[in-house]
Amino acid sequence: MNAPLLSFEEAHRRLLARADLTDGERVPLPEAVGRVLVEPKVVAAVDVPPFANSAMDGFALRAADAPGVLRLAGEVIAGAAELPAVEAGTTVRIMTGAPMPPGADTVVPLEDATEADGTVTIPGSVAAGRHVRDAAHDTRAGDEICLPGALTAARIGVLASLGIGEVAVRRRPVVAILSTGNELVGPGEALGPGQIHDANGAALTAAVVEAGGVPLLLPRQRDEAGPIEAALTAAARDADLLVASGGVSVGRHDYVRAVLEANGSLDFWRIAVQPGKPLAVGELAGATVIGLPGNPVSALVTFELFVRPLIRAMVGLDGDGRVHVRATPTEPMAKDAARRAFLRVSAWRENDEIRARPAGGQQSSQLRPLADGNALLVVPEGADAAQPSRSYEAIMFEPLPEAGR
Ligand code: AMP
Ligand code: MG
Repeated sequence: MNAPLLSFEEAHRRLLARADLTDGERVPLPEAVGRVLVEPKVVAAVDVPPFANSAMDGFALRAADAPGVLRLAGEVIAGAAELPAVEAGTTVRIMTGAPMPPGADTVVPLEDATEADGTVTIPGSVAAGRHVRDAAHDTRAGDEICLPGALTAARIGVLASLGIGEVAVRRRPVVAILSTGNELVGPGEALGPGQIHDANGAALTAAVVEAGGVPLLLPRQRDEAGPIEAALTAAARDADLLVASGGVSVGRHDYVRAVLEANGSLDFWRIAVQPGKPLAVGELAGATVIGLPGNPVSALVTFELFVRPLIRAMVGLDGDGRVHVRATPTEPMAKDAARRAFLRVSAWRENDEIRARPAGGQQSSQLRPLADGNALLVVPEGADAAQPSRSYEAIMFEPLPEAGR
């Protein structure tokens, strides 16, 4: 019954092999933040900017005319289509972003000139081309621009400046979430004897959103094979991925794994990680099912380690999208030597070092330290404790604060 423990890497590899890219969908550009372009290479159809224009509010003139007193021959504002010509001995008032009028090669800022009675005095010489933004100085038509990764505000700005109003992005994977357990009642409902509130349904819904998926929270199910199988099979029609919590260990009433074995297929279910040793991965009705352990810390940590990278891979993003640093624990922290541990810590930067202290108790039923802390400290297999004499990888959930918290 006790299959050997699969290594973290092997479990990761086998799970990510199941990541099929989602299809594309067209969305208006302002809605594309955080999304991933189906085709990351974009060929610019226009020059940006499309015409030479002024970088300052000032006077457009010929550099050869400075210093001198010039006749003011008109004004160009941003968006002007008709441009007065600048001839020798004349100048035109110009606003930032307005097209350079024909004949002018330079702009002198307002504050460096004196205007009076229809003339403009330029006191010193000026370098030709000064304060002029050339056409295409940001992007030239035909340039290939590569925008891999999630679209940020700046990348969306680049696409907009190229005149692109709609983009094809990867569809967000729909991830069904199922909490199992006779003891569970919804948050907001009163507890009866022996009951606890379902923490995983809400927490995993949030984790799916954070990972870039669309959550589909299914009604909770009791520990009974039939209803669990029916709920997962029905959800397989609408979801790209099924995530259940609870019922994957060796208890007499653990049905998620049993349902996979009986009605679908079970790929693996025991991994050398702490927390989260029992993690069932398999297939039902054509969909990948991941059965997370029921303890809320185990459920969230295994989601972080396995489901989050899978959701990201389905839209073409690499890795977990977290910042990884090296951190030194403030005190020894015990762990199981047979497994890789992901300890709940609070990390901070102190001088040139990153330090991490336990964020609280490390039992997988103690959810508060995961909420209070900002990182998981990764302590390898083989060690029976994290030691303050060395540093370990830390996976950051939040920005690293400067002083101890
Ligand atoms: P299981 O994996 O079903 O054996 O559950 C392990 C532990 O996690 C038990 O103490 C359960 O009561 C608890 N648990 C399971 N599911 C949830 C949930 N959705 N919310 C909070 N605790 C849970
Ligand atoms: Mg259970």
